[in-house]
Amino acid sequence: MQKNIAIIGGGITGLTSAFALLQKEQTEPFTFTITLFEQDHRLGGKIQTDKQQELIMETGPDSMLTRKVNRVPLLRDLGLDKTLIGSGNGTQKTYIVHRGKLKPIPPGTNMGIPMQIAPFATTPLLSVGAKIRALGDLLIARRQDQEDTSLGHFLRRRFGNELVDHIAEPLMAGIYAGRIDDLSLQATFSQFDDLEKKYRSLILGSMAQRKAMKASTQKPSTRSAFVTVQGGLATIVDAITAQIQDRIAIRLQTTVTAIHREQDASLSVKYRDHEGDASMKFDAVIVTTPTFVTAKLLEPVSPVARELEAIVYGSTATVMTAFYKKDMPTLDASGFVVPRKEKRAITACTWISSKWPHSAPPDHVLLRSYVGRSGETEILSLSDDQIIEKVRTELKALVGIDATPYFAKVTRWDRAMPQYHVHHLSLVNRVKENLARRAPTLQLAGAGYLGLGVPDCIAQGYEAVDNILNELNKK
Ligand SMILES: Cc1cc2nc3c(=O)[nH]c(=O)nc-3n(C[C@H](O)[C@H](O)[C@H](O)COP(=O)(O)OP(=O)(O)OC[C@H]3O[C@@H](n4cnc5c(N)ncnc54)[C@H](O)[C@@H]3O)c2cc1C
Repeated sequence: MQKNIAIIGGGITGLTSAFALLQKEQTEPFTFTITLFEQDHRLGGKIQTDKQQELIMETGPDSMLTRKVNRVPLLRDLGLDKTLIGSGNGTQKTYIVHRGKLKPIPPGTNMGIPMQIAPFATTPLLSVGAKIRALGDLLIARRQDQEDTSLGHFLRRRFGNELVDHIAEPLMAGIYAGRIDDLSLQATFSQFDDLEKKYRSLILGSMAQRKAMKASTQKPSTRSAFVTVQGGLATIVDAITAQIQDRIAIRLQTTVTAIHREQDASLSVKYRDHEGDASMKFDAVIVTTPTFVTAKLLEPVSPVARELEAIVYGSTATVMTAFYKKDMPTLDASGFVVPRKEKRAITACTWISSKWPHSAPPDHVLLRSYVGRSGETEILSLSDDQIIEKVRTELKALVGIDATPYFAKVTRWDRAMPQYHVHHLSLVNRVKENLARRAPTLQLAGAGYLGLGVPDCIAQGYEAVDNILNELNKK
């Protein structure tokens, strides 16, 4: 049976969906005619690996969580699992800015939650009172309410404000360029909710998990918590493209403007390209655009889809700077993060060439600084030159870098980071359930829903394909 499928958006979610659909032709009673619509002139979406002057620069995502990569078959099926690179040895350390100085995050902590008492007891990051308050976690009861709450509220109750503001906030909320007191516990770090349910104390729970992991006979594929692939993350985009480009229609520079459900239950996709407006009919559609776009596209299918507009997207920018090693101080860590209370322009800085030695020649140093996050976006209104100047001033003050970078580049990410606010998951479920009733072969997937990390998006691409096949098999 032949089925027409549309995929809207050519980021990692849409590309994975296309690849997974083609794989399914081998086991399902269908052949697929697939059209992928992408408004940009290139595929990959947020994944952007820029190669210049012997530097491999990830201006968007720079790595993937190893434990999540291991849960999806994509890299193995693309033959890329052998090319995985773990983050560099000797960069286990990360600094945190504390009263204008870099201080190491105490070893034996999990996103700021202590798993070993000794390093925590001696860290200069917290006052004595704050350490005693944080140990209150050992005694504090489970919360009674099972409702979603903010990550900040949950952690403040267990550990007090100082640990949250000085350590946990930049590590956890930094991933979302968000605010810890707005982010949903269940949609971001539900593992801490689970730990509390099981062990009551997060410290005791983390210690128990650490012990179990040490005792486990299962060997991790790599010891690093983060991985990339040789040549950078765009290698994944290129590998998928090579597999699909002769088998599907890829329509670049084509903007989808609306999706309608027809009388015969097919879905018509309206789009605009250089020739003007047109539409095509499909049996199924996978929509992977940011939720503020999706909300508008789906208005004709369901008014409930407008609720997706409530998902706020944060803006940020990455600033790449490259130096000659001879001009630099020793960089002995993966970088640093900056708590909001420090009121700095830089929110985090990855010492790329320490973390990923393959990304620069041995006598060069490549750094990536982040500026701007939810609630701190004034800096993004400055010109590129002004932003670079601010970053240089702070790198000098914080790291002692006096040298002039021989290369500097700002990449702006406007409305790029979905903020999973409290009750995010109920909103997503409500919209998905409504669409499942109105248009069961229409699937939503991607960063705006159930995880914004690259492996989360890959997993959602596979899931969207499985859901569509379930529906098609019912007919
Ligand atoms: C600066 C930054 C750093 C990050 N760092 C990491 C990291 O280190 N590790 C990690 O795992 N994750 C990281 N992330 C998150 C991760 O990169 C993204 O969440 C993920 O790549 C999103 O993939 P996606 O396919 O869901 O969406 P996107 O990549 O946004 O793809 C959606 C596509 O839809 C297209 N589109 C939009 N509207 C239309 C339309 N109307 N018609 C047709 N096409 C349309 C867009 O052009 C885009 O190509 C980072 C994100 C950013 C911005």
